[in-house]
Amino acid sequence: MAADILSPFCSVEIFEKGKTVGRKFLVAGNGGFNITNSATGNALINKFTPARFFSNAISAFDSDATRSWLLQMGIPTYIGSSGRVFPEIGIKPIEVLQKIKEKLIMQNVQFHFDHEFISFNSENRPVFKYQENEIVPIADYYIFALGGASWSITGSNEMWRTEFEKIGIKTISFQSSNCGVNIEWTEDFKSKYAGAPLKNISISINDFTIKGEALITHYGLEGNAVYPIIAEVRKMISKNVAPIIHIDFKPTNSNVQLKNKISGLTVPTKNYKTVFNLNEVQLALIKQFTSKGLFIQPESFISSIKNLSIPISSLRPIEESISTVGGIALDEMNDNFSLKKFPSIYIVGEMLDWDAPTGGYLLQGCFSTAYYAATNILNSLSVKN
Ligand SMILES: Cc1cc2nc3c(=O)[nH]c(=O)nc-3n(C[C@H](O)[C@H](O)[C@H](O)COP(=O)(O)OP(=O)(O)OC[C@H]3O[C@@H](n4cnc5c(N)ncnc54)[C@H](O)[C@@H]3O)c2cc1C
Repeated sequence: MAADILSPFCSVEIFEKGKTVGRKFLVAGNGGFNITNSATGNALINKFTPARFFSNAISAFDSDATRSWLLQMGIPTYIGSSGRVFPEIGIKPIEVLQKIKEKLIMQNVQFHFDHEFISFNSENRPVFKYQENEIVPIADYYIFALGGASWSITGSNEMWRTEFEKIGIKTISFQSSNCGVNIEWTEDFKSKYAGAPLKNISISINDFTIKGEALITHYGLEGNAVYPIIAEVRKMISKNVAPIIHIDFKPTNSNVQLKNKISGLTVPTKNYKTVFNLNEVQLALIKQFTSKGLFIQPESFISSIKNLSIPISSLRPIEESISTVGGIALDEMNDNFSLKKFPSIYIVGEMLDWDAPTGGYLLQGCFSTAYYAATNILNSLSVKN
């Protein structure tokens, strides 16, 4: 994004340690490729933590701008479920990446592959390793977009943190965000139900509730109703408080409606499935986290349907996470995404310590920060000239 904005006006070179760019972009496209989200204005800004840090960047380049940018390159998009924005059906992620690369090549952006950023030199310019050589590109501005710490196979790892620390830039340790949670299932439960979805549920933690779907895995739970609770789980773990989530298997039924289903009936336990329209997986999960005494009492069973408490033992590892929090501390940054200590160095994307849920917000955050940094550079170039 930054290269696209800058290259019509100045010479831009991209240094990438891999043999190609955009590998995480392609991984992101493997499942549902949410390239942005239809939320705009404050609704979009408030998806980011801290929101204040994003307000200028999102106002300058929001999700509508992302969609127009893609459309100009021949990539129409559509709004899918829960406001997620996808490339039109049939357009593969590799085609989107290819269009972006073609545009940059047309605009004379030069790519240098196999160039790994390894340190800063004594003038605080980045040093790249290429084969056995060390290369220091001389530029007026440097924009770093080295990513977070998950999915290191795509190139992002946190090796760069040490080098930024060496020049006096505070960084925060990376932690998992938008990841699965570990739960101590019984052997029997996981062997039978790993891979089963829990559809149309809501999950609550403290005062936060989210509706959606979760997938039972051999280690715990994943899915769009799990990722949004991670920030809260992380906070509790950091305070040594054991996190407990509460699942509501019937979020559209009130307790009273469920109680009406059993009024006047003597409900033998084996009829719960039919009476409450529960499937085998839901029933087994309720059984696992409800004592036998409560399970056989219909009224307390209803409490378990509406509010099943499940302890979380930990978060899944960083490597597996969709995104990470941590990286360059935000108090090191100017509002325009340059470093306060080195104003010719800009940082954008997941390298910065921010968080956002899944649903297209992560890529949008990367696009917006890169756009805003690039336009700020353009403004300062026009002042200089
Ligand atoms: C499985 C998965 C699914 C996802 N799905 C979505 C989704 O549907 N929607 C969404 O919005 N987001 C999604 N994301 C998140 C999104 O892909 C990332 O937030 C985004 O790619 C981050 O962009 P970035 O440019 O900051 O970093 P990256 O995309 O990680 O790019 C960093 C680049 O820097 C290079 N690099 C790293 N270190 C060096 C070095 N020392 N020298 C030179 N080059 C280096 C890397 O090789 C890499 O090319 C998903 C992520 C994953 C893992």
